[in-house]
Amino acid sequence: MAFEWLDTFYRKLEKPEDYAERTLAAYRLGMQSGGAIVGVRIVRDKDCCQEAREISEDRIYHPDEAPRLPLPGCPKGRFCRCVYRPVMRYEDQEGDA
Ligand SMILES: [Zn+2]
Repeated sequence: MAFEWLDTFYRKLEKPEDYAERTLAAYRLGMQSGGAIVGVRIVRDKDCCQEAREISEDRIYHPDEAPRLPLPGCPKGRFCRCVYRPVMRYEDQEGDA
């Protein structure tokens, strides 16, 4: 099928239902083990919804406090491309310097 690749492409953009829980749990674990992760940041979709625009990309959250993605009011739902990114210890130190 000619458009099969497109179908696959869109499927990959869709977040799994438990995206937030699963991702945040992984980061939480990375923090607990004395690992390099100090928190989580949100990187917004380039053409994100209004709600996402109000989130600061510089803010570092504890996984327990991070807003759940996709944001409840996002019109794109699970196709929203706002994602979590781990904040590593060395990044944090650079920020403080
Ligand atoms: Zn969004």
